Amino acid sequence: MNCIKCPKKIYCSKLCKEHFAKYFLRKFKRHLSNLKILKRKDKVKLKGKNKKTAKHLLLSLENSLSIEFDIKGKELLTYSMDYKVISMLESMMSEIKIFQPSILECYRINEIEKFCKLKKIGFEEEKYSKLGKELKKGIDKLEKRKHNIFFSSKKMLDKLLEQHKKL
Ligand SMILES: [Zn+2]
Repeated sequence: MNCIKCPKKIYCSKLCKEHFAKYFLRKFKRHLSNLKILKRKDKVKLKGKNKKTAKHLLLSLENSLSIEFDIKGKELLTYSMDYKVISMLESMMSEIKIFQPSILECYRINEIEKFCKLKKIGFEEEKYSKLGKELKKGIDKLEKRKHNIFFSSKKMLDKLLEQHKKL
């Protein structure tokens, strides 16, 4: 298999070494500008694995932001997408209650609310932690664009849980 941009041999992510390096830097630039956490001449301190890689990328920005590395600088984390997703799932699953099935988990909360109203049963709002509230707000927003995201997330988590039980 060859690079999707030239006839050279694939190195990573369907790209040859040269195109992969370009792609990697481009992706970093885009990510940084999306994050909006760095200004010119900022003093930063890197925290996490692969600090050298992060430093390399920061220093190789064309319109160098003249960033300084300083132990008292603003903390910038350097974990990967994998670590972020896994850690989030981990913290979700560490709550043991989630492992046990619920007899009402086949419903969305608004369905339960509507049913309560219909049957004149007192409805109880479910309480979330601060992080939970933020997550829910985010997922609710996503759901407007991508239908059934709660359903597919739950399906994914249930599958992960099954794997976990087998271990
Ligand atoms: Zn190439």
